[in-house]
Amino acid sequence: MDQLQFKDKKVLVRVDFNVPLDAQYQITDDTRMRAAIPTIQTILQRGGTVILCSHFGRPLQKLKEDGSVNVAKFTLKHLVSHLSELLGKPVSFAEDCVGPVAEAAVAKLNSGSVLLLENTRFHAGEEKGDPAMAAQLAKLADVYINDAFGTAHRAHVSTTLVAHHFAADAKGFGYLMKAEVENANRVLNHPERPLTAIIGGAKVSDKILLLSRMLDVVDNLIIGGGMAYTFIKAQGGQIGKSLVEDDRLELAGQLMAKAKEKGVSLLLPEDSIIADRFANDANHQSVNSDAITGDWMGLDIGEKARQQFSATIMASKTILWNGPMGVFEMPNFAEGTKTIAEAVAAATQAGAFSLVGGGDSVAAVNQMGLADKVSYVSTGGGAMLEMLEGKELPGVKAIAG
Ligand code: AMP
Repeated sequence: MDQLQFKDKKVLVRVDFNVPLDAQYQITDDTRMRAAIPTIQTILQRGGTVILCSHFGRPLQKLKEDGSVNVAKFTLKHLVSHLSELLGKPVSFAEDCVGPVAEAAVAKLNSGSVLLLENTRFHAGEEKGDPAMAAQLAKLADVYINDAFGTAHRAHVSTTLVAHHFAADAKGFGYLMKAEVENANRVLNHPERPLTAIIGGAKVSDKILLLSRMLDVVDNLIIGGGMAYTFIKAQGGQIGKSLVEDDRLELAGQLMAKAKEKGVSLLLPEDSIIADRFANDANHQSVNSDAITGDWMGLDIGEKARQQFSATIMASKTILWNGPMGVFEMPNFAEGTKTIAEAVAAATQAGAFSLVGGGDSVAAVNQMGLADKVSYVSTGGGAMLEMLEGKELPGVKAIAG
């Protein structure tokens, strides 16, 4: 967007205003709204008029009992007054995002003002990628800016199809989107080495593509969390009642073989904190990860694993972290994740570039108050995961070509 002209132009900005509300429709976390403010302010400062659009929840999948849309619950009108506060200026609202109502609201706009359009998902065409709806939305503006990275992996009207109606010099990424794309590319395409990926979380099956792709680019791959036990079992270890996907044992073996072939150092937790129940107050003890017996289950990485993983992280120049090292929601099994978060923060302090994204690790760094001690925390869970898996995001491609 830095290269585009906004003076006296109407600028359609796709933001991600999908914020959580409480039962009284009060915003409980405005992070996503605040993240879009720099893009909006810049367009205004450069003489543009801003037309905002966003999805909000899943109104068509959560219809009222009589089959009608619950407008009261899913209207973006709930956000108008807070948005106005954040911007320090009035924000008008159009009760539809396309068609005569939207067009009339746009026609009434004074230069330099801000309009918020109603929830794009009130129209079935949004998620279906309806070309007619895309043409109607595009008609409202001269320039299109996409700043909604969190939905860039969806080929929806407002994230992707609408962009095709704007010439290359009349469309661009907003600042949030730009940061997300650049930081993912920094890890994937031109990392300073050694590059270490830390992958954790519950299931191997959710992260097969990510693990496989990481083996193509990283120097070190650290695997922790529940998914580690499928690998440990595939190596012949005893894992008791730890989380395991028996139908992925062969795949785990193939990934370990690929690591060897590519010269990637693949680290699994040497030891684990095991519990006799899946509960914070369960009995727990530390054992080697391949010697878990009976009903015991591994719920966190152990002390030796923490030391080994931390040493690898500290020796890295680029770090990607996706997924917790244990059941970090339970305080007794959060220490491993905390140690790793601290190691990532310390490595960043020492000059490494660190990207946290695409899963529960974002919640973990926030919970541990370390979000401002890493280089970048991604806002786009699924979109970041797909980008790291090497997939081309439709919302990115529609602008970058
Ligand atoms: P994901 O969404 O794939 O990043 O997985 C995150 C979830 O994995 C969190 O809710 C963790 O509690 C869970 N998790 C991490 N380690 C384990 C483990 N050892 N056993 C069971 N669940 C785990």
